[in-house]
This record gives sequence, structure tokens and C-alpha cells, in this order.
Amino acid sequence: MQNPIYTISRIAEILNADARLVDKQAFIQYLVIDSRSVLVPENSLFFALSSHRDGHGFIKDAYHKQIRNFVITEEKYINEYPDCNFIRVDDALKALQNLTVYHRNQFDLKTIGITGSNGKTIVKEWLYQLLAADYNIVRSPKSYNSQIGVPLSVWQIDTDNTLGIFEAGISAVNEMETLAEIIQPQIGILTNIGEAHAEGFSSKGEKLKEKLKLFAAAELFIYSPDYVSEINFQDLPGKKQFSWSSTQSADLRIIAVESLEGNCRLRAIYQDREIACMLPFNDRASIENGTICWATLLALGYSAEQADLRLEKLSHVSMRLELKNGINQCSIIDDSYSADISSLAIALDFLNQQNQHPKKTVILSELFETGRDDLDLYSEIADLLAQKKVNRLIGIGTHIAKYAQRFKFETQFFEDTNAFIDAFPALHFNHETILVKGARRFEFGRISKLLTQKIHDTVLEIDLNAMVGNLQFYRSKIKPGVKIMAMVKAFSYGSGSFEIANLLQFHKVDYLAVAYADEGIALRKAGITLPIMVMSPEESAFEAIIKHNLEPEIYSLEIFNSFLKALSDQNYDYPIHLKIDSGMHRLGFDEQDIDKLSELLKDAQQIKVQSIFSHLVASGASEHDGFTQQQIDKFNLIANKLTAILSCKPLLHIANTSGISRWPDAQMDMVRLGIGLYGFDSALSNNRGLQTTMVLKTTVTQIKTLDAGETVGYSRSGVMPNGGKIATVKIGYADGYSRAFGNGIGKMLINGYLVPTIGSICMDMTMLDITGIDVKPGDEAIVFNQEHSIIELAKQINTIPYEILTNISQRVKRVYFYE
Ligand SMILES: *Cc1c(COP(=O)(O)O)cnc(C)c1O
Repeated sequence: MQNPIYTISRIAEILNADARLVDKQAFIQYLVIDSRSVLVPENSLFFALSSHRDGHGFIKDAYHKQIRNFVITEEKYINEYPDCNFIRVDDALKALQNLTVYHRNQFDLKTIGITGSNGKTIVKEWLYQLLAADYNIVRSPKSYNSQIGVPLSVWQIDTDNTLGIFEAGISAVNEMETLAEIIQPQIGILTNIGEAHAEGFSSKGEKLKEKLKLFAAAELFIYSPDYVSEINFQDLPGKKQFSWSSTQSADLRIIAVESLEGNCRLRAIYQDREIACMLPFNDRASIENGTICWATLLALGYSAEQADLRLEKLSHVSMRLELKNGINQCSIIDDSYSADISSLAIALDFLNQQNQHPKKTVILSELFETGRDDLDLYSEIADLLAQKKVNRLIGIGTHIAKYAQRFKFETQFFEDTNAFIDAFPALHFNHETILVKGARRFEFGRISKLLTQKIHDTVLEIDLNAMVGNLQFYRSKIKPGVKIMAMVKAFSYGSGSFEIANLLQFHKVDYLAVAYADEGIALRKAGITLPIMVMSPEESAFEAIIKHNLEPEIYSLEIFNSFLKALSDQNYDYPIHLKIDSGMHRLGFDEQDIDKLSELLKDAQQIKVQSIFSHLVASGASEHDGFTQQQIDKFNLIANKLTAILSCKPLLHIANTSGISRWPDAQMDMVRLGIGLYGFDSALSNNRGLQTTMVLKTTVTQIKTLDAGETVGYSRSGVMPNGGKIATVKIGYADGYSRAFGNGIGKMLINGYLVPTIGSICMDMTMLDITGIDVKPGDEAIVFNQEHSIIELAKQINTIPYEILTNISQRVKRVYFYE
């Protein structure tokens, strides 16, 4: 069989849609939904989807990136771009899905569909590892499992593939039928079912029934009876079933889980005899995911012995890439666990997004894209690297080196990882961003270890996907046309500086705001080109502000005059922001200043009032709603007065995070999004809809057993009347863990147990009471995460999440994750 060839006119036919085609033979290989991620523009078809934002808004950007083929719903673009092909449909998402259903129908390969609340991606990746010896497998990239991700995954199928493994996730009823039609799985795997509310369903039963629609036509269904109690056995999908459980009778009945130094041995009854397997993991989630894979191998007909041999070789799957500080001022993007072309494209986008260093290096192993011709593969990689503006490639492996001449920039090649490591002392890495990306067998973890600064044992992990999710959440709440100013003052509320600003710039917020000029200067030096407002512009910093094109907040007549003086005659229309005091009584013009200010503004040609704004003091608190309304009214009055005398209309803004949803009429021209981006909003009960962005972890250094009556720490404040066991962890008040958490007020999570502090918090260390709990030196202690939340911590010491976050000192290493 041949791969189907899709010309644009063939696609128009398949979609049964109207088209205006200027080049009917344009060959389409890639489907693009994001104008920022384009592989080969001339063979790409852009779908203007409308999800959080209307995809039509990105047609211009896609056009600039040389894309000439579009699927749209709005006709008006057709005339704007006379040299492009357009297919017009009523629903661009449906069109994307229909096209991939057609594509799927061209192949009759075996397919496994995976759904469930957790573990889908890991089970998919592990099955890939387990089955790669016997099949040529196509699988969803990363966790592409949505209404958009599934079509993009299935589009990758080609004739060489003998097995497809696809995951499917849904968030509402009626979504699964579509995914089932696209994937058409013969084998179905249900990983598990968690709480219904977490995924937007009214009950567990509803959620389960919805998910199982994926398998309506499946031959074989693999599941645990523990997760399907809401359904009668005869209503389960699949012509045949295979079950696993550790609590009730099942085809694979787990009878024991023995943990052995990081590994674990599972024993089970299968076909009336006892069998066993080793897993190289021993955490709960991995044991469940490993059991699912075990059941799948057996259900597919592998013998217990074969299954055991393969399972013990499973390796850790990291779906996230990490951004860390490296040696010699480098930034390291560590994606050392996987290498295939689609994840390479994602990692390169991330590299491109981080602009802190002008030089970009990629350390890449050869890829194993089964069934692809090497020349074709490495030519595509060379184009991709050039397009993403990589300056240097360090290629590792003998295959990639053969295609050295395809890479038209600085290159160096090494036969294997050891050769690179031997040469490392003589290689110079300095002030550059380095992407480390390698296939598993190349063990690139060793390379990233060499390149990264020694990780202190206390780490603040920042989930960049969660942050983007929170940004999209607020985007969906603001009215069309309202701009977003993202507040990145105080190291983005403790989370980081240029790392976060680069992310926000990539995701196209309109403005950034910092507290001080030097914060803004640091961002400019890291490649941030967005407009930046400086809220406390010191007079001594005016020159630097102007030099770096930062925009000062002007809050008094004095500062207005002195800033005017600092501007030279060459400056014309320099952007400034006027702050009005509407009731906060911190900084800002008072009502009685306004006439004088108006006079000054009339003559000031050097400046341009870019915005006028004020700040709400209690936008999240209903008991102060009357006052908030007064603030809004007062601001409107003053802002309108000022606007009347200006020749350009300034942006008006007053709403902070909790104002966005509670005071939609105060969104005006722009909102200032702060704490919401980082996952907190006092206007939402339980921060519903927001994702946790930060986790603070430390490690246990030593364990001690104390006798009755002994005391712990300074001033002997930690008393153990009955004796017990304590653990010392590597975080103290100098790291931002307040002394107020001492003596049992604060708690940390170790191995799933919440344990209290004992004694006073020291400068660099804290002692925890772990009496009765199994803890070893080296174990992880979680200071806060999603379950043990910052909100709880803030309550314990009578403060607010803002303070907990911004107190985390710069000494604590930040590691950024991106999926
Ligand atoms: C910090 C700050 C914000 C953001 O407030 P959040 O409550 O974090 O959203 C908005 N405006 C001004 C002037 C600020 O200083």
C-alpha cells in the first residue's frame, strides 16, 4: 500500500467544502493549528480553529511564516491573500476531525486506544517501549489526547506502521464518539477513573459511560473491575475482556506487591498458576501503570516469562522538559529522555521562546524514526534547526554524523555519549541556551548533569504549562479586545524572571509590569521586547529607563516634572502611565492634582500618555463591594477628564486578578493579571479552574531517635516528652521558610504523611517529628504542592499566598517544566 497523497484540492473534496485554490497541486503533509509551530510551511495546512482565541487572528502570522494553505470559516480573508489556497468550512475543528477520519480509514493497522483519568501517557509510552521490538509503532506525541490532539496524532499514521497507540481524554459529554471515530481502536485500555468533578462531569457513572464510548467497537477491553462498579458486566465494551485487580477476582489477580530498593516485585494468579514480574519502580502510580501494561502483554498473548523480561527493562518516562541554570551562565533545556521529530519540534519551540542568550546550541542524538530514510530524516532535522535559528549543533551518534554537510551552521559530531564526555573539558559552553535532547539509549542524563549547576537539594519547581493554562483561563474571562498586562514584579511573584517573561511574551500578553527599573532592565537584557511598565521608577533610574525603553508609572506632579526633565529634546511621544489614587492611598494623583496635571499635559510634547490606571483595594471581598464601586466611579470620572484633553486615547485599567471575574464591567481596556497567573484568586472558591504552578521540595539529611525528655533545636523549644524520631531537612528561614512555622505550626509531606515541625526553624534547616513513620535520609519532603497547598501554609502563619511565594529566597534553585 502507498501512503495517500493529499493535494489541497483532494482535501477540499474530502471535506466536501468550497475552496478558492490558486495552486491546486499544493501538496499537504502537515496540519498546523498554531502559527508558532511550523515545520515545513510549503507543505502545511493551517486550520483557523476558534478555541481560547480565534485562529483567524493568526492567519497573518502564518502567512509571514510562508504558509499558503488555510482552512477558514470566515470568507473575508480570501480576498486579503490572493496568493493563498483557502478552503471554507462551517466548523474548522470538525473539518480537522473529518479529514483525519478519512486518513484513518485508509489504513487497517492494529490500534490500541487508552483512556482514563490518570496514567494515559505513561501507559502509552511504556507500551511503546514494551512492544517496539515487534511492531512499527505510531503513537500520540506527548499527551496529545484532546479533540485537537487526537486528530493530529492519527494524522501521523503511514503505511509502514503496524501498530498505533493513541490516548484519548475528554472534558465533557459527547466528545468521545468523535475520538472513537478517529482512533477506531481494536484494543481498549481503561487506566482508572478518578473523581468526577475534577474533569467536569456530574457523576462518576456519567464520566465512566462517556469514556467507555471510545471502545464501543473494540475487540478486546482491558480494565480493572475496581473502576467500573457503576456498570453491569454485560454492558462493558469489547467482544472479549481482560481484567486485573488487587482486591477482587480478575484474569490477572495481583496477590502481592513487594518493594525492593527502588524496584518492586508483583505476584499474581493468572490462568490458575502463580506468576511474577519485576518493575524497576516502586511508587504507587508506577505500580498501577505497570500492572496495566502487564495485563496488556498477557492479553495480547505474550507468555508470563516474556512479559517479565520486558517489564523489568521499562524506563522512566519524563514527558516534561526542564529548564535549569547551567554552568558558565548557560540556560539548559533538559529533554534527555526522548527523541523523535515531533517532540524535537516542541523542544525547539521552547528553545526559541527563551531569548535570554543570543546563542542557541542543540545537543542531539541520532533519532530512531523507524521506517524513515536517513537522508530524508536528517534533511528535515537540518531544515528544522535552521528555521528555529539554532546556531550550533552537537550531534552524537554515527548516523547523524554522516549528514554533517546538511547542517549549514556550526557543527561538531561525536561517535557516542562517552566520546562527548571525554571531550567535555575542552568544549566551551558559555552564555548560551543549550537544548539537550537524546534517544533513551544515549543516556543523555549524563550530559545534562555535566552542564547543570549542582542542584541544591531544595528546589522550587515551576510548571509552565499550568501557568499558560491559567493565562488561558483569564483570557476566556475577559471580553473581546481587552488587553492583558501580566504582573511579573518581584521575580514574577517568586517564580522567576526572564523564564516567565519569555513564556508570556511567546503567549502574546500585551504588557508586562515590574516594580523597579532594574527588574525591567534585566528583562530587556534577556530578549524581552514587550512593552514594560515600571511601577516605582526612582529618579536615579530615569536615564536607564529611557535607555531601555521602559515605561514609567507617573504618580505625582513632582515625578512628572522630573521625568520630563530627564527626557531629551529628541524624545517625542515617550510612553508613560498615569496612576490615579482612587482609594488605596499608596501612590497616585489625588483629585485636587488633576487640574494642574491637565495643564502640564497640554504642553508636554515629549510624552504620550499610554494609559491611565488605578488599583482596587478589595476587589475580591464582597463586604467591600460598595467601596470598590466608589473606586471605579471615581476613577472613571478622573480618567474621562484627563482623556478629554489628550490627543490620543489612553488605555484605561483598574482590575487586578480578583477584579477580572468579579467586576467584569471594570475590565475597561486592559486588566492587570497578577496572582491568578500563579494559581490563586480570592474571587474563586478553592481557586476553581486554576492550576497549581509551583511545588517546593527539600530533602531529608539525617534521622535521629531521641529518648524521652530530650529536646530539639535552639532554646530547647522542641520537647519530646515520650521520645521519638526526628528528621532534619535542608530548608530554613533563609530560604523563605518562615520562623513562624516552628514548633508544630508548619507541616511537610514525607512519603505521603503530613508531619509537623519540631523546635524552632533554623537559618538553613528544619527538624520534623516523624515518630512512627518510615523515613530515610535522602527522602523528599514537600513544603507545598497541590495537595498541601500554599493557602494552608498562609493560614497557618496568618499571612497571604503572595507573601509565602515572594519570600522564597533566590538561593532556592528554580527548575521549570514544560510538556
Ligand atoms: C501587584 C499589582 C497587581 C496585581 O494584583 P493581583 O492581585 O496579584 O492580581 C495589579 N496592579 C498593581 C498596581 C499591582 O501592584
